[in-house]
Amino acid sequence: MKRLSSVFVLVLFALVAVGSVFASGQGESDAPLVGVAMPTQSSQRWIQDGNYMKQALEERGYRVDLQYAEDNIDAQVSQIENMIVKGADVLVIAAIDGASLTNVLQQAADNDVSVISYDRLIINTPNVDYYATFDNFQVGVLQGGYIVDALDLESGAGPFNIELFAGSPDDTNAYYFFDGAMSELQPYIDNGQLVVPSGQTDFDQVATLRWDGATAQQRMDNILAAYYTDREVDAVLSPYDGLSIGILSALKSVGYGEGGKELPIVTGQDAEVPSVKSILAGEQTSTVFKDTRVLADRAANMVDAVLQGTEPEINDTETYDNGVFVVPSYLESPVSVDINNWEEVLIDSGYYTREDLGL
Ligand code: BGC
Repeated sequence: MKRLSSVFVLVLFALVAVGSVFASGQGESDAPLVGVAMPTQSSQRWIQDGNYMKQALEERGYRVDLQYAEDNIDAQVSQIENMIVKGADVLVIAAIDGASLTNVLQQAADNDVSVISYDRLIINTPNVDYYATFDNFQVGVLQGGYIVDALDLESGAGPFNIELFAGSPDDTNAYYFFDGAMSELQPYIDNGQLVVPSGQTDFDQVATLRWDGATAQQRMDNILAAYYTDREVDAVLSPYDGLSIGILSALKSVGYGEGGKELPIVTGQDAEVPSVKSILAGEQTSTVFKDTRVLADRAANMVDAVLQGTEPEINDTETYDNGVFVVPSYLESPVSVDINNWEEVLIDSGYYTREDLGL
């Protein structure tokens, strides 16, 4: 029995040796492997992030394992575990829940796998090397500032009715967006030019778990039924296009957008196709464009630097404390988009074709 099993082990070794010679004869299996973990395909932006990331890494000569977890936290953890088992050299992760990766990233560290936090900050772990993102506070400033300008609040106009929405409480970005927006809006709530009839102004009251559009629609339905029987909404702070579409559905279902009852100002983020179409149709008012090509390129450069043992370019070492340390970051610049500049920002830059927008 013993002899049999050692023969078996020998045969196995021979097979593995032949296999790896054969594989390395194919060349590309020598290239470092980069695992890219994305949250969901239910939102267009992450599909674009994944595609651009794959392309940017392959152009630099790396192999890529791209996975989506459809907003299921356990699925994302096991995808990352698999990447480590497959021998990934670097992981690029856009977390579903930024606090849920502590154990799996310990496994990554034990296997000398480097980690780039992509767009969303991974918290409660020392095992993140760099963070590639946009200036998330500035995203909120653009959203809140858009409402301030559109209602001409600086000239003293008002009072106007506004309702507030925030993103998912397990995504640190949601807090930066909300804080940025409130840095613009709070002074006008304090002086009475903006009124929040629902009274819901704390992050916990206005957050939307998993950035779910249906949840936002439901909350807007409830607010309209409870607080707007004898008044109209003038503005809605929405942090993300998927929520904006749900909010607009709720508003349209009670008659906004027809018969002289104007839709309120509704902000957004990501310049997703349905929202750009909605802006062109005069429904959603604005969005914030974050060029996923630029972010993917930034993250791919970080991967490159890590694999070559050099330091990537960083432009922020103060903002993103993940509970263990301040993660060295590169913040790209978001751009506000509305009916006046969509063509220049989205078409002239080559991000969309006119056909993509059904034009
Ligand atoms: C991203 C936003 C996106 C949101 C919902 C955030 O972490 O930064 O661009 O709108 O997630 O997917």
